Amino acid sequence: MSTQGRPTQLAAKIEKLKHELMTLGDLRPGTLSAQYNVCGKAGCACKADPPRKHGPYYQVSFTWQGRSRTQFVRPEHLVAMRQQLRNYERLRELVEAWIAAGLELSALRFGAVPSPRGRRAPTIRVGTRRKSQ
Ligand SMILES: [Zn+2]
Repeated sequence: MSTQGRPTQLAAKIEKLKHELMTLGDLRPGTLSAQYNVCGKAGCACKADPPRKHGPYYQVSFTWQGRSRTQFVRPEHLVAMRQQLRNYERLRELVEAWIAAGLELSALRFGAVPSPRGRRAPTIRVGTRRKSQ
């Protein structure tokens, strides 16, 4: 493939990713798990040998804004919940692919600019007053 065609190809890929992002349905982060419990009732099947524990009880665990949480999921919401979790995973894949394409495209357009020797890149302040000396 030609180097000239690559930016066009990447731009087209990004457009495709954007389009798919716009079509994503409801989403949420998390991991779904099933739990089986033992109760306190005497003679219950959950304490038999072999035990027939209560459940499954489904829960979704996730971390959002630095906080970990676990929420129970009603059985009737399982199908929709799984779809939301898949949509979230797809979102992450699409964003990752966009970033990868963006990095490559940026490098093709701007090239690798060497930093001036012995100097740090200048800090440009915008909209701030210069300190009086
Ligand atoms: Zn029980």
